Amino acid sequence: QAPFDVERLRQDFPVLARKVHGKPLIYLDNAATSQTPQQVIDVFSDYYSRYNANIHRGLHTLADEATAAFEGTRHKVRAFLNAEDARQIIFTRGTTEAINLVAQSWGRKNLAPGDEVLISMLEHHSNIVPWQLLAAEIGFTIKVIPVEANGALDMAAYRELLSERTKLVAVNHVSNALGTINPVQEMATLAHQQGALILIDGAQAAPHQLVDVQAINADFYAFSGHKVYGPTGVGVLYGKQALLEEMPPWQGGGEMIKTVSFGAGTTFADIPHKFEAGTPAIAEVIALGRALEWVESVGVNAIGEWEGQLLDRATQAAGRIDGLRILGTAPHKAGVLSFVVDGAHSQDIGLLIDQLGVAIRTGHHCAQPLLHHFGVDATCRASFAAYNTLEEVDRFIEALHRVIGMVR
Ligand code: PMP
Repeated sequence: QAPFDVERLRQDFPVLARKVHGKPLIYLDNAATSQTPQQVIDVFSDYYSRYNANIHRGLHTLADEATAAFEGTRHKVRAFLNAEDARQIIFTRGTTEAINLVAQSWGRKNLAPGDEVLISMLEHHSNIVPWQLLAAEIGFTIKVIPVEANGALDMAAYRELLSERTKLVAVNHVSNALGTINPVQEMATLAHQQGALILIDGAQAAPHQLVDVQAINADFYAFSGHKVYGPTGVGVLYGKQALLEEMPPWQGGGEMIKTVSFGAGTTFADIPHKFEAGTPAIAEVIALGRALEWVESVGVNAIGEWEGQLLDRATQAAGRIDGLRILGTAPHKAGVLSFVVDGAHSQDIGLLIDQLGVAIRTGHHCAQPLLHHFGVDATCRASFAAYNTLEEVDRFIEALHRVIGMVR
């Protein structure tokens, strides 16, 4: 196996050459959004300078080309997730919209008072609030799978929470706040044994490990383009075909209909178009396809292994810093280092370390219940991507030492 050639792949990312406050940028906020390779950036100028057109409707050459490129991404996503059929791939604005789609379409039709939806303590707000909004209207119950002290899901508690009342389990594959990798395949098996469905928020998994929706036996799987080296404004919902076919549309408009009439009723398009009302983010979808090609050219498992090396180095060095506490030490973790430092506000660390060119995240990471559970309002979070280097980890740790020295 060829060694991971991080220096070569860094060349693909123009932003990595930039300086921040006069210092070389060390970008460690990849769990929020990943940087974009030139190959993906080029899609935009190519699309808008050569074949910008609305898709599916035109009979002209530009419309054909745009449609072919757009639908080409659907096939790439199918392969990326190992989905059975490209019609099971629905384009959304991101993970958030994908989860809202399931809540508003599947949830509104299938959930009733007395039913239970299980989510976990690890969830991002985007996999909490859509269920709360719907529960407030319908009256079903949301139950929360607790976490252990190391940030792993409490699987014994999960087994106990599951019952014939459970209609849906909605969990993330990888936690953005702690990096915990959840045993989603096992969770799916257990959910299915109770007749429940499972929705997996894959926003933090898709960039770091091979995802096989058939092996997991996921009923729904969601991810976002901008965390997998693609653009913002586009994401994906995968669903099992029979489920998607049964689900009603959730937004109405052009593209999602077969026929519209005032008298004889309106009929809807087949999947996936039934769920794609209006003009989509065409260039973004095409660029997402290019991003997935980029990821595959490097190898998503190779990326995950490299990030594991970066995480190990960062974890060991951070562990030697006096008064620094790492949140999330589960044995199965993706490249996320979340920590708090005694006597130092996370916000101050984030602001000061930015002055040294290091971009990390500080705050609640859209996971307030989880942080409250650990007794904190905010953490600092460094999260790694394919293009980060061991040297950057060392410089980040050095910068952290300096900053802690300044604020204490
Ligand atoms: N789930 C997880 C685990 C995430 O990390 C994020 C983004 N931080 C989301 C959902 C939401 O993704 P988006 O904002 O792209 O819709």
